[in-house]
Amino acid sequence: MNIILLGPPGAGKGTQSHRLVAERDMIQLSTGDMLRAARSSGTAMGKRVAAVMDAGNLVTDEIVIGLIDEQLSNPALDGKGFIFDGFPRTLAQADALGALLDSKGLKLHHVIEMRVDDDALVARITGRFTCSNCGAVYHDETKPTKKHNVCDNCGAVEQFTRRKDDNEDSLRTRLLAYYRDTSPLIGYYYAKGLLDRVDGLGSIDAVAGEIDEILTR
Ligand code: AMP
Repeated sequence: MNIILLGPPGAGKGTQSHRLVAERDMIQLSTGDMLRAARSSGTAMGKRVAAVMDAGNLVTDEIVIGLIDEQLSNPALDGKGFIFDGFPRTLAQADALGALLDSKGLKLHHVIEMRVDDDALVARITGRFTCSNCGAVYHDETKPTKKHNVCDNCGAVEQFTRRKDDNEDSLRTRLLAYYRDTSPLIGYYYAKGLLDRVDGLGSIDAVAGEIDEILTR
């Protein structure tokens, strides 16, 4: 099964993707994670996108479509279900994803819109931190680690990072990009009969329950 998690920054796409990977053996394809990896390994592309990402703007369609194409062409991932997380973010990316899936004989099964109100996003994003070893996502107030400085998921010690773009200025730009460029995808996938919605403001377990219910349809 191939799904898209659609929602503004901070809606919980990464958190729910990690859960689906652990519970359903799916593959998370997060263009944000791929771009951050390119930056930290210092590739030419990584250097090119760094300032754009820090400001909260979108990188070009060409770059992210290329990254997804590479993953979908990876024979090691054959037969796995994909979770598209943070992709597509523009109509051009949505068209390109459709064409890529078609060319590989794959299908999109669900597009799940995670709805969260804007005030909640600011609070969520500004307290967020991630384990750089396994990618588990935490929050200062709503989801702290059980043991100080130790990842609950993989046990890594003092491996936490905070994203450079998780600040209020950058978030404002990211939200604008979401409403301007990405929110038209809601109508796009509704018209294709693929759209489902969940209340992203619920607890992690409540959101997980709603998503699971959709995936069993
Ligand atoms: P994310 O981790 O999904 O919030 O992405 C972090 C940043 O990476 C975004 O603010 C953009 O600068 C860039 N990015 C990630 N995915 C895309 C995409 N599909 N299209 C354009 N830019 C993207």
